Amino acid sequence: MRLTAGLLRTTRSLRFRLAAGYLVFFTICLIAIGGFFRFSLHVIIQNETDAALEEAWGAVKGYLTVEKYGPDWQYDGYDADEIFIVSRLQRVYLLTDINGKPVLHSPIYDSIGLDSPAEIKRILQSGAPSWRTKYDHGEPYRIRSGRWTDKNQVFYLAVGRSLGEGERIIGRFTRDYFLILPLVILVCGVLGWYVAGRALEPLNSVSRTAQRITSSNLSTQIPRRGAGDELDHLIETFNGMMERLHLSFEQIRQFSTDVSHELRTPLTVVRGQLEVALFTAKSPEQYREAMENALEDVERLSSIVRALLLLSQSETGQLVLQKSEFDLAEAVRDVADQFQIPAEGDGVRLLAETPEHFPVQADRIQIDRLLSNLLSNAIKYTPAGGEVRVRLSAEPGQATLTVEDSGVGIAPEHLPHIFDRFYRVPSADPRKGLGLGLSFVAWIVKAHGGAVHVESQPGQGTRFTISLPAAAPIRPAIESDPAMRETTRG
Ligand code: ADP
Repeated sequence: MRLTAGLLRTTRSLRFRLAAGYLVFFTICLIAIGGFFRFSLHVIIQNETDAALEEAWGAVKGYLTVEKYGPDWQYDGYDADEIFIVSRLQRVYLLTDINGKPVLHSPIYDSIGLDSPAEIKRILQSGAPSWRTKYDHGEPYRIRSGRWTDKNQVFYLAVGRSLGEGERIIGRFTRDYFLILPLVILVCGVLGWYVAGRALEPLNSVSRTAQRITSSNLSTQIPRRGAGDELDHLIETFNGMMERLHLSFEQIRQFSTDVSHELRTPLTVVRGQLEVALFTAKSPEQYREAMENALEDVERLSSIVRALLLLSQSETGQLVLQKSEFDLAEAVRDVADQFQIPAEGDGVRLLAETPEHFPVQADRIQIDRLLSNLLSNAIKYTPAGGEVRVRLSAEPGQATLTVEDSGVGIAPEHLPHIFDRFYRVPSADPRKGLGLGLSFVAWIVKAHGGAVHVESQPGQGTRFTISLPAAAPIRPAIESDPAMRETTRG
């Protein structure tokens, strides 16, 4: 049972299929090559026999002549060469009159079977020489026959040569070739199995590594072989995937820790406040104060939970934009106004430059959220005495929103990641957030079909540029006076 299962697994393996495919292909090639050579050999032997027969036909004319008593062989009986030549010519031959009546013939031709008168007549009438292969008890003979004239008398002459030797050579070649073939196939099969195994070894190493990976060793990498082939490419892709997974897992792990910390602090505070109130408060005022403080922290808790919920909704596509037409210029001024007091508190100057009106088709709540996130970040990361500037400008077909600050800036290595979920530039700032603000910004811009771009110089400031496409009537009512309306406080 186990043996059958093992066998089944082996035959289904890529290694087996590769080796078997290669072997089948190789076997077909070898058989085709053997067949081709066998056929070529056959053609060569037949051509050579035909050429020899053509020569013999010419030679017969020199030795066979019509005498008074009829046709006969004429040669010098003392010349060994002539005796040899004529005896060769006489081995397989037939001479008949034009009616097919045999005049002279060799015993072998008799054994092969004399040509029938009808056959002889047909060949004589055609005028062209005839080439045939005839058999004497399985032994093949090549026969050349046709009209033969001497001293104005017409005869039918056929001369032949055995093909037996040639056929035996072909037979020996075929037998040897096909005897050795299974051995060659066996050697090739073993070689194919070995080569396929070697070629697929990196795949096994990938799968072994993949089996070892759990959430705690996601940083595992498969060593590259340096061959620059498809398998190296696969390993690179796999390693890249592992790196991304590792990063995501790290972020999620970090996020869980952060969320627990974020939630634990206000929860501990609320608990403390309520316990103190329960055990020490005496007057209604003291109770009231404790409850107010607790409420503030509960508010913070709610906002964190809301942010998490929103993020998951936006990621799963549950959050759909509620577009309506509103004045973007007014929205920018409103949000900027809301941030004036916190900005003042931090000693930061907040400026808003907008046209008088800028009607757009967008989701007001999300645009407000986008502005709030950008402005709160700008104020949070700008030291006292700095400046934050939000500017709305109209270009043909699009609205451009810029939020610029003179704050701490972002180092180039962090810049590509700041829009990632839960990504926070490491800092000692106790007011650090959850790293979700810019993820929202990116999602809102994307959902509106726009683009966001960030430039930053560490120590000098950061500029976020957002372009939103001109959906519906984005036609700003720029007044005749091009000077922008400016909101300045602080
Ligand atoms: P957070 O809630 O931590 O502010 P965000 O997603 O809004 O998360 O921002 C991600 C990171 O980008 C922050 O940790 C911060 O370091 C950096 N960042 C965002 N805006 C600014 C800015 N205006 N100036 C400097 N750093 C910024």
